[in-house]
Amino acid sequence: MGSRVIMECAVGGKFFSPIFSSTRSVAVEKRKLPSLHKKIKFCSSKFKIQASQAETHLSPEAELQAEKRGSSTGVGVGELIWPSPSDGTPFWKKDFPSSGVSPEVFADVKDSDPKHIIHVTAEMAPIAKVGGLGDVVTGLARACLSRGHTVDIMLPFYECIQKQHIKDLTVITKYNSYHDGNWVPTTAYRGVVSGIPVIFIEPSNLFFKGQYVYGGSYNELEAYLFFSRACLEWMQVTSTQPDIIHVHEWQTGALPLLYWDIYHHLSLKPRIVLTIHNMEHYGECSKEQLSKSGLEGSVYASIDKAVDDRTIGHNPERLSLLKGGIVYSNAVVYFGILNGIDITMWNPATDIFLPVKFNDQKPEGKKFCKYYVQRGLGLASEGTQDGNHVPDITYKAPLVVCITRLVPQKGLHLISHAIKHIEELGGQMVILGKASDVRVQTEFEGLAKLHNQGPCIRILLMFSDELSHMLYAAADMVLVPSIYEPCGLTQMIGMRYGAVPVVRKTGGLADTVFDMDDQSNHNKANGFVFEGIDEGSLNCALDRAFTYFREKPDEWNGIIKKVMEVDNSWNNTAGKYVELYNSI
Ligand code: ADP
Repeated sequence: MGSRVIMECAVGGKFFSPIFSSTRSVAVEKRKLPSLHKKIKFCSSKFKIQASQAETHLSPEAELQAEKRGSSTGVGVGELIWPSPSDGTPFWKKDFPSSGVSPEVFADVKDSDPKHIIHVTAEMAPIAKVGGLGDVVTGLARACLSRGHTVDIMLPFYECIQKQHIKDLTVITKYNSYHDGNWVPTTAYRGVVSGIPVIFIEPSNLFFKGQYVYGGSYNELEAYLFFSRACLEWMQVTSTQPDIIHVHEWQTGALPLLYWDIYHHLSLKPRIVLTIHNMEHYGECSKEQLSKSGLEGSVYASIDKAVDDRTIGHNPERLSLLKGGIVYSNAVVYFGILNGIDITMWNPATDIFLPVKFNDQKPEGKKFCKYYVQRGLGLASEGTQDGNHVPDITYKAPLVVCITRLVPQKGLHLISHAIKHIEELGGQMVILGKASDVRVQTEFEGLAKLHNQGPCIRILLMFSDELSHMLYAAADMVLVPSIYEPCGLTQMIGMRYGAVPVVRKTGGLADTVFDMDDQSNHNKANGFVFEGIDEGSLNCALDRAFTYFREKPDEWNGIIKKVMEVDNSWNNTAGKYVELYNSI
């Protein structure tokens, strides 16, 4: 994959005249996926729970430390009032304490040769998250920080980012970055998000303005071309020399081109790693659009550079930013390394969003989380009639959750079929999903209208990080019926929160979930797996899961314990990234 690198010289932000070539080793990794609380007093007709003082005021750090020491105090219950659908503010929108997580808490492994890594990304959890990309960037960054590396994340300063989640936000640099014949005044801010240093890039034009991370009324492709260059320009003007620039997805696919053909020859010396999280999106781009970044678009219009092979012979042929990124990066990871989950953010023993904490040693709190969600969403739950008695937490309707972007990849027809089947089986289902396509949105709005007044189904068409935490904690099962899934995080998060996964056997789901009824692999068995993309296959997996839940309680509790003990953390896989950083 080694290819010519073209150096061009700067004149007013435009670069031309190829005069330099060099070979880089581009390692395209092959896919190698591996394969309670105590003393709760129930009082008052509002089901108010009170805990003893000693349990209520542990800071998240103290709870984390306690958990590390194996102490039993990490499952405290604060003062809790059961929510109801008629509450003025929905239960997932109330004010939550800040997590105050410090990466130092997890500094178990230290690498001998610490590097400076800068992630350049369109998403970061929790402040700018749409899907797994945000989780991966935050989790990997934290894992590397805790191993002794210096890590920064560079992120567009989206207007929708809630500034109260950023600690110590300060302007650090005012500079200009090139776009489409102009130098755009740009501001760089520094702040700390969930213990991780972040540099926010804010152009003075319309880019990144709007209510959401994606879909503002500006040209998205051009905005990310601008962002890719503005990150390098910032490194250039501030003489920042990381060892590694780690880019993610098509949005930052032009950065390796800009780096090797402009900034490397100005002063920057890092190496570039590209991680592809999802090949579905590849940043289709015209030569003219690429030229707006200051590169000469036509220079990249060849098969060994950025032309999308699939458009050869078309008029016009198109470039793909992702392809350009693949060709121009020192190493490319396409799920050659399994993702992990950020066990700081996703920790039922300390999760600030949970009404009651729990862990694998003391799972009782999970039942209260289920009851809390059932009450809050108006789902059937026993004990709701008599305001004075202890809620009957043994109510036997399994709660299945599906938390997902509503896109074809995720198996939309299976998700909507599951609603019907789970209802027939006497279970409950909550879908938390966001659609970007109007037709999908309309279809699910129709389903919501049909079901949301009943006692067992809720379809919530929105993005809510807070609610997602509560749903994982409440769920008996997490459904992931993807048509394809490069890795998938929801099954891993679900497992950590004691939700048994019911998944389609594909990609990373096949590598992390093993069927309970597969006798050949009983040691690993931790969920329910189906292969077909038809409704019957899904039914069969759900039927089996419901039978275990209802008829084999001991085995079911055993699965819950087992899934909570599975270590899908970055502890297992961050080291592979560090090896890759070292190797280039
Ligand atoms: P993908 O990256 O394809 O979206 P993943 O399974 O890798 O899928 O990651 C999805 C992440 O996004 C998980 O953290 C999941 O909880 C979160 N998520 C997806 N949809 C929503 C939603 N509507 N509200 C809150 N979180 C969501």
